[in-house]
Amino acid sequence: MDFDVKDISLAEKGKLRIEWAEKDMPVLRQIRERFEKEKPLKGITISACLHVTTETANLMITLKAGGADVYLTASNPLSTQDDVAAALVKEFNIPVFAIHGEDRDTYYKHLYTVLDKKPNITMDDGGDLISTLHQERQDLIPNVIGGTEETTTGVIRFKAMEKDGVLKFPVIAVNDAYTKHLFDNRYGTGQSTIDGILRATNRLLAGSTFVVAGYGWCGKGVAMRAKGMGADVIVTEVDPLKALEARMDGFRVMPMIEAVKQADFIVTVTGNINVVDKHHFENMKDGCIVSNSGHFDVEINIKALEEMVVNKRKIRDYVDEYTLEDGRKIYILAEGRLVNLAAAEGHPAQVMDMSFANQALSAEYLVKNKGNLEPKVYKVPDELDFEVARLKLNTMGIKIDELTQQQKEYLASWQHGT
Ligand code: NAD
Ligand code: SAH
Repeated sequence: MDFDVKDISLAEKGKLRIEWAEKDMPVLRQIRERFEKEKPLKGITISACLHVTTETANLMITLKAGGADVYLTASNPLSTQDDVAAALVKEFNIPVFAIHGEDRDTYYKHLYTVLDKKPNITMDDGGDLISTLHQERQDLIPNVIGGTEETTTGVIRFKAMEKDGVLKFPVIAVNDAYTKHLFDNRYGTGQSTIDGILRATNRLLAGSTFVVAGYGWCGKGVAMRAKGMGADVIVTEVDPLKALEARMDGFRVMPMIEAVKQADFIVTVTGNINVVDKHHFENMKDGCIVSNSGHFDVEINIKALEEMVVNKRKIRDYVDEYTLEDGRKIYILAEGRLVNLAAAEGHPAQVMDMSFANQALSAEYLVKNKGNLEPKVYKVPDELDFEVARLKLNTMGIKIDELTQQQKEYLASWQHGT
């Protein structure tokens, strides 16, 4: 079998960790059990570009149980868990092309390798597969039924492709499912970002000033959890509604140029470029710890910082110390890449259970609707979204009320006044 992982002898450790995550993925388990019987993905080749984690491993196993030929490459050079990659290859016969810390050339070499498998379905996290396929491997497009996208920025990229009229097949925006972004982006990013910062630095959050750039779904989660750990949280925004919401949620709101003067920690979660830029470093408090949990390595302008410093050294795993001419020190975590997936393990399995249930059901939906969908970005159909929520509640042992017939009629009527 064709694969490229760091060390195949790590497989046993990876297998145990995959099993540990599986315990907390009951929704995906139920889908896997159904897929095993029905084989809805029989004959389908899926090339996936996702974070190679224990949770992704369980998704890959589910897709394979559904009859698909699955190939996995990494969606981030720093998020690959090498033991999981080894276990997928050795224990589950799933080809993986991913090595933790791989350079840009290897990252793209691996991406081209999974495209060479001629996918019928692409699964992206950030949009690199579909973007590369459309720009460099158009010959493969006739094989593709459709794609799925895991995250906010990938969806933004594909909507831009749709708007420019260049998108050649349908894409399901898994991120836009309620059972994805309301939980994964908020509670997942909230917890795992704090986890990544703490594992990298072992610093006390209580009593610190903690700046969150962006008050979208991820930002709300990070701000909420930092506050819960006793930090004084400042939010920066460009959207007046989000800024107002942050203020009414009890956070201080100000421009980044003011926030950097007070910040002990800064986390970017905007999906935008250069949110922390040269002029921010010039005004930054000595000792500030800067990290990103948003998109790729673009949110912090590290290139600008590198041109400003007299010394750079790695002081701990995932912590680079930059010394400026005036002696101030600035710390960048995980090379400005997603701190939650590089310095920690990403979101816990309980939230990825819903995100990846949406991925599996979306793949099945693409196959069932082959030829009937246009080259557009589609939301996960509501019935799938509600099904995931229902299954999750069931597995949590939570029951809810049902509308009575009278209530249904009342909600559908317009005649009744006070
Ligand atoms: P979102 O659109 O809900 O929120 C982004 C927010 O950033 C918006 O409110 C926007 O106004 C704000 N923003 C944009 N530019 C800004 C700037 N210059 N300064 C301050 N604020 C700015 O998106 P989201 O779902 O919260 O996702 C944010 C990013 O995180 C995306 O890139 C997404 O792909 C990524 N993401 C990461 C994880 C993770 O595991 N680390 C999980 C989910 C999403
Ligand atoms: N690929 C881009 C964008 C990542 S956005 C990059 O690396 O910069 C982060 C996405 O990672 C989220 O949408 C989330 O669903 C996913 N993620 C978070 N924790 C994960 C985990 N434990 N396993 C797999 N994916 C995870």
